[in-house]
Amino acid sequence: MTPSIDCRLCKTPTAESDGLCGACKRARGPRVASTLARALADSSYASACLLSLPPNTRDRFAQALSQSFVAHGSARARVGSRARGR
Ligand SMILES: [Zn+2]
Repeated sequence: MTPSIDCRLCKTPTAESDGLCGACKRARGPRVASTLARALADSSYASACLLSLPPNTRDRFAQALSQSFVAHGSARARVGSRARGR
């Protein structure tokens, strides 16, 4: 029996105890995935992360966050300004 919970990033049911599916952890790395998941749940944590990161990393983090928000289906991203791109 595996407890079924939704991945905190992509909402796919997973049996992982940390609430992050294998696909997300592989795609981003376990540490980044868990930071992202926390940032998604807590916008003040997200802002704090963004502020404390060096510019390159901040851009990537902001981008990953906005992608995750899209995956979440909740369009209410309030994480700083969107990365300007392309
Ligand atoms: Zn996932």
